[in-house]
Amino acid sequence: MFFEHYGFDKQLEKAIGVFNEAKNKSEYFKEKYEGLGEIGSYEDWLKVPFLSRDEIRNNAYPHTKAMLTRNVEDMIIVSTGGTSGVARFSTLTHDEWGRFAFVQANALKVLGVNKKDIVANLFVAGNMWPSFLGGHEIIKEIGAVHLPISAITDFDKLIYYFELFKPTVLLSIPSLLIYFADTLLKKGKRFDSVRMIQFAGENLSDNARKLLKETFGDVELRAAGYTSADCGLMGYQCRVCAASEYHIPTDFQFIEIYDFEKDKPCEAGELGEVVVTNLGRISAPVIRYRIGDMGYIKKANCSCGDKNPLIVLKGRAGEDFKFGGAYVSMVQIEKCFSEFISKSGISANYQVIIDEIDDGKTSFILKIESSEPQKSEKYVDLIKENLKDEVPLFKEAVDVGFIKVFEVEFVKLGSLERSPITGKVKRLIDKRFGS
Ligand SMILES: [Zn+2]
Repeated sequence: MFFEHYGFDKQLEKAIGVFNEAKNKSEYFKEKYEGLGEIGSYEDWLKVPFLSRDEIRNNAYPHTKAMLTRNVEDMIIVSTGGTSGVARFSTLTHDEWGRFAFVQANALKVLGVNKKDIVANLFVAGNMWPSFLGGHEIIKEIGAVHLPISAITDFDKLIYYFELFKPTVLLSIPSLLIYFADTLLKKGKRFDSVRMIQFAGENLSDNARKLLKETFGDVELRAAGYTSADCGLMGYQCRVCAASEYHIPTDFQFIEIYDFEKDKPCEAGELGEVVVTNLGRISAPVIRYRIGDMGYIKKANCSCGDKNPLIVLKGRAGEDFKFGGAYVSMVQIEKCFSEFISKSGISANYQVIIDEIDDGKTSFILKIESSEPQKSEKYVDLIKENLKDEVPLFKEAVDVGFIKVFEVEFVKLGSLERSPITGKVKRLIDKRFGS
């Protein structure tokens, strides 16, 4: 039996409402849920089949209208990522979009962002990506002062705006914040006006935290929320939340944790995959969606007094790579160069490229950005040693020649491949057959 946390009954009731709308009004869900009878209880709910990323990708608008419960009118269409060719889009009515922004604005208010703040919106604009526009709605809802700078503004201009308006809060994605911090360090600039940095879209690694503290001084680093373009805000942080902890907005989202190996819902404290049903999106429903994150729900309430339960995230399902039968996490990779960050220009933005070369041998290349790649090179051997210490399988594989190429390379700031839509650095490129 799934842990029935605060708000559970109301969530279930709303979720069943979304389910009924979907089943009655959308062609796709009508077919998907054919044969399912009335859903009235949690036991019934457990029979509702899960929704996969591929299902959304293949059936969402504009590919087909099958997933919609209404006509295409009074809506906004935004990109939810993916590279060219497999780009995905999300449709929301303007009301639903407004609700997404309202819930997100509340998350920032909990952390003390207020009317007096001057907020630099450094999200990525263009390409139908929702974050910059969303930033506008959120800042407006809070009533703070908005600096709509965006991530595409060049850095000299950006520094000029910062000097002119002295923002107190920054909103952006970690890949850009790291790049920005590297550039400021290189130029010897500091901005003491900034008291809080809110990030979204990616995790902020320990390495990146260190770098941002070095650049901005005693700044509060907070996730603007645990969000996705399909589902909106799935978690918000209070002041006592640990870095990977989020309160679940129970009136907006029904989150289940599911163990797909054992095919059963997880108890409180048990790690599983995050499954999301959005309670505010009816026009294109998201029901029991496997979002691809791992986590668990805490049994105990947060000490801040907020009764909304806490979800603890444990990384992406599938972002780690398999090596020699074991899983290597990106956190392990990050650890191996964390001590060198900001020395000789070394950045926290990196990329791992794994490939199969001749005779089934493997090549492993860790590329790290640096403002002074040549100077950074003196750390190559140290980082290689750290990698072999952290992942002993690397050492064995290099010794026996299974890993034929084992390299650490420093490349220029901003040169690693980014997603053209989201601007995020691709941390892992695994080109091996079948992976
Ligand atoms: Zn709390």
